[in-house]
Amino acid sequence: MNLLFIGSPGSGKGTQAQYLVSKKNFKHISTGDIFRKNLKEKTPIGLEAQNYIEKGELVPDTITIKMVELALKNTSMDRDSIFDGFPRNQTQTEAFNEILKNRNQKLDLVLYLKVSDSEVVARLTGRLWAPKSGCIYHIKNKAPKIKGICDQSGEPLIVRKDDQKEVVLDRLKIFWENTEPLLTYFNQQGILKTVDGERPSDQILEDILSALKKVI
Ligand code: AMP
Repeated sequence: MNLLFIGSPGSGKGTQAQYLVSKKNFKHISTGDIFRKNLKEKTPIGLEAQNYIEKGELVPDTITIKMVELALKNTSMDRDSIFDGFPRNQTQTEAFNEILKNRNQKLDLVLYLKVSDSEVVARLTGRLWAPKSGCIYHIKNKAPKIKGICDQSGEPLIVRKDDQKEVVLDRLKIFWENTEPLLTYFNQQGILKTVDGERPSDQILEDILSALKKVI
């Protein structure tokens, strides 16, 4: 089964995807994570993408699609997969359909995690990140034991450039202009399920699991 998570930045896609990975053995394909890994390792893709990511802009389609193709090339798709953050616009959706078709696969379910813009701003601008350990904290909801220090690695926590308020607002604008319109397309295909993403995460997960049951 192929599952796609759509949601504005900070809607909790990554968190819910992680639950499915641990509870249901899904494979998680997150273009944001792949880009960040490339950035950290200073690969050619990472260097090309850095400027766009830090400004909260979409990385050009040619780079993104090539990267997804590369990521899937050596991966068998016998396990259920979650696509998170890709496709994000019309061109990527067409390329994605083609990629799946070439593998005799299809997209089975699209889950839209709906969260208001004000909630997204509150979530993202309060987020703190430990670059080495990859741990993520929040000044209100998940504060570290010692202020500004990662519990796991002891390194200083930082605000990611793309979590700064102006950048978050730009990322939201891009979501509404490029990604949200895809919902109409997926709805017409009868594979869209909208989930209220402003509830406790166990309730969100319950909705997701019941949507999955209907597909299996
Ligand atoms: P995310 O963690 O999914 O919000 O992604 C972080 C950043 O990576 C985005 O703000 C974009 O700069 C870049 N990115 C991730 N996925 C895509 C995509 N499908 N198309 C273009 N850029 C992307």
